[in-house]
Amino acid sequence: MDELRDLVEDAIKGSTVFEKSKVLTPDYIPKNLPHREKQIKELSINFREILSNPGSTSVRVVISGKTGTGKTVTTKKFGELFSAIAKEKGLKVVYTHINCHRQRTLYLMLVEIANQLNLQIPNRGLSSQETFKLIYDYLEKRNIQLIITLDEFDYFVSTSPVEDIYFLVRIYDELNALVKRIHYIFILRELTSLASLDKSIKDHVIKNVIEFPPYTSDELYDILMDRIVNEKAFREGAVLEETVRFISDIYGIDKGGSGNARLALETLELSGKIADTEGSLLVTIDHAKKANSKINPELSIILDTIRDLDLHQLLVVKAIMNLHKKEGDDFFPMGKVEEEYNIVAKDLGEIPRKHTQVFEYIRKLKLMGLITARQSGKGMRGRTTLISLSVPISEELDNLINNEIRDRLLQQKNY
Ligand code: ADP
Ligand code: MG
Repeated sequence: MDELRDLVEDAIKGSTVFEKSKVLTPDYIPKNLPHREKQIKELSINFREILSNPGSTSVRVVISGKTGTGKTVTTKKFGELFSAIAKEKGLKVVYTHINCHRQRTLYLMLVEIANQLNLQIPNRGLSSQETFKLIYDYLEKRNIQLIITLDEFDYFVSTSPVEDIYFLVRIYDELNALVKRIHYIFILRELTSLASLDKSIKDHVIKNVIEFPPYTSDELYDILMDRIVNEKAFREGAVLEETVRFISDIYGIDKGGSGNARLALETLELSGKIADTEGSLLVTIDHAKKANSKINPELSIILDTIRDLDLHQLLVVKAIMNLHKKEGDDFFPMGKVEEEYNIVAKDLGEIPRKHTQVFEYIRKLKLMGLITARQSGKGMRGRTTLISLSVPISEELDNLINNEIRDRLLQQKNY
């Protein structure tokens, strides 16, 4: 027992390559945002009217870009700087950041906005309209300009009733307020996620689009270096330059990676932890390689879920992946997925389940967060449900699903 105690004690006081490891955590907002200067400038230009001529317009900006391109951190940074500058000019600008994954309904969003404004909302089941009115009156009384950022807005669009989306986007105009006080930043992964909305709402949302392209290897290098050198995540000299280059090259879009800064930072952090466990004072390429083989975030998130699926649910997932491979699209009509599922099942010697059962599978997969569904726009044949996998389709995912399917088939045979 004492041996273990020694081990823990040694590890606690043992050497570490880190200095301020908290600057590597996902929520940390660094002082600099290399390669996002242009986007911050565009945001500032879009919003400067609020300062020069407060009350004259309601600003709407759309930000679009893939995961890990700095959308969240950049808008938060902008909000922080913008409201501080406004304050120096004697104006009250409050920036609120809403994550639509966390605040899943219109009502919860409004409550969160109120919270961020330090406005007490009575606990007696107000409607969204009433809550909105309270917020609005509060802004009027205190002469506040409010910037509402709706992060992961795709999610809200794909899961909420059309009335709620309409409410959120249009109500303010309908108040016909003389003094405009509410401004929006919509953060989207893809502009196409708005495709299902009515044209009137779309026109309202898509005004000024600011693109966040995936990072190149050189850009990731600068981002990592900034955390290492300026933010002092590591002890001086602990991370070898070639290690940083190596990680940047894995994820740089120009080197066949995803251009995702989050993954690059996670890999850097994990490399450091591996160096620590090995008692190394330097973070080497070898540590980065080990870290890289462990990191596969999307997969790790859904791995547990996949284990819980039964054979035919897996076949539905497989069908969506097949369609993606064949057609390159992300969203497919239910009918098409079902057709492909029938083919996949027959190929494996399985009798395809009936329509109602497949429908039920899709509903469950949606509840588990594995697939995303949305309504198509009003086409000639009326509305259909479009579905997509919620995680990027990669070779690893493909292998994983195939393995699981094989396991299930083997289990069946053995009974
Ligand atoms: P998104 O919202 O587009 O998915 P995030 O804003 O969450 O991306 O960024 C992912 C991670 O990468 C965060 O830890 C963030 O601090 C970091 N990051 C992204 N872009 C930059 C940048 N230009 N400079 C410094 N850090 C960045
Ligand atoms: Mg984000």
